[in-house]
Amino acid sequence: MLELKDIYAARDRIASFIHRTPIFASEQLSKRTGQQVYFKGEHLQKTGSFKIRGATNKILQVQEEGAQLVTAASSGNHGQAVAYIANRLGLQSIIAVPEDANPSKVSAIQAYGGKVEFFGTTSAERLPAAQDLAAGNNGVYIPPYDDPFILAGQGTVGLEILEQLPDTDVIVVPIGGGGLSSGILRAVKEVKPSVRVIGVEPAAANDTYLSVQAGEITPISQANTIADGLRASQPGDLTFPLIQKYIDDVVLVEEHEIREACAFMLERTKQLVEPSGAVTVAALLFNKIQIQNEKVVCVLSGGNADIRQISSIIKQ
Ligand SMILES: *Cc1c(COP(=O)(O)O)cnc(C)c1O
Repeated sequence: MLELKDIYAARDRIASFIHRTPIFASEQLSKRTGQQVYFKGEHLQKTGSFKIRGATNKILQVQEEGAQLVTAASSGNHGQAVAYIANRLGLQSIIAVPEDANPSKVSAIQAYGGKVEFFGTTSAERLPAAQDLAAGNNGVYIPPYDDPFILAGQGTVGLEILEQLPDTDVIVVPIGGGGLSSGILRAVKEVKPSVRVIGVEPAAANDTYLSVQAGEITPISQANTIADGLRASQPGDLTFPLIQKYIDDVVLVEEHEIREACAFMLERTKQLVEPSGAVTVAALLFNKIQIQNEKVVCVLSGGNADIRQISSIIKQ
């Protein structure tokens, strides 16, 4: 299982490969909400999202074990992170993406040095393809969240928040497959248990919300949300027990609330945050969280919105 010492070890191991991203106060959002709101800026992270943390910790591990090639199944932030760090460490990478993948995301992966292979349109097709590619090329498949080394890497976000803002009262974090949230929970609830951690999901992809309510992993059949990093159909076997044990609450945001949060960030704070990262801002803007003039840190998990998406958000 994931231990606090694994998260500290991940922090030392990945330190020279990633940014220690800033925490900054938001006067605008504080005024709007009556809270003391801060942002943890993982949209400013290398490759544009926190995914580089887990990917780096995992790939350094498999490299120590002798791997020379890694694979992943993701056209999004995980695929970019794996391609970037593999290249930087001198490993080859093959990233399985859907046939209808966004061309700008495909070229980002290629620019980071990843080889792209197209497979079907669903993750049910892509995932086994990436595993087969690993097996057939003497490589290692790098999962997006359900792996102890990935969780330890993502948990370093939690350690950094407590160091940068020791009197944090509440941390608000997006939930997709649950790697980021469960890593942060493991770190924070051990180092400073009084800090409350609130998870945010799109109402259109509420698998973790339903799972926490039901007390068991509860898959959803579709996840039609603009927040493409949060489209997991169920929490993971490793992530769910941690979320279930530690999370204080999971709240839901609507699609129009996510769009408004993106626009708010751009217009008021000059920060480009992708929809998956802006759900935490949406939760505050639309009063989904019960808090009383406390120090709240919203994790801005990524900034990889493509230009067309931004213009459609601005137009609305
Ligand atoms: C992957 C991702 C998430 C969700 O992280 P999980 O570990 O899958 O819960 C949130 N935001 C962004 C920007 C992501 O890329």
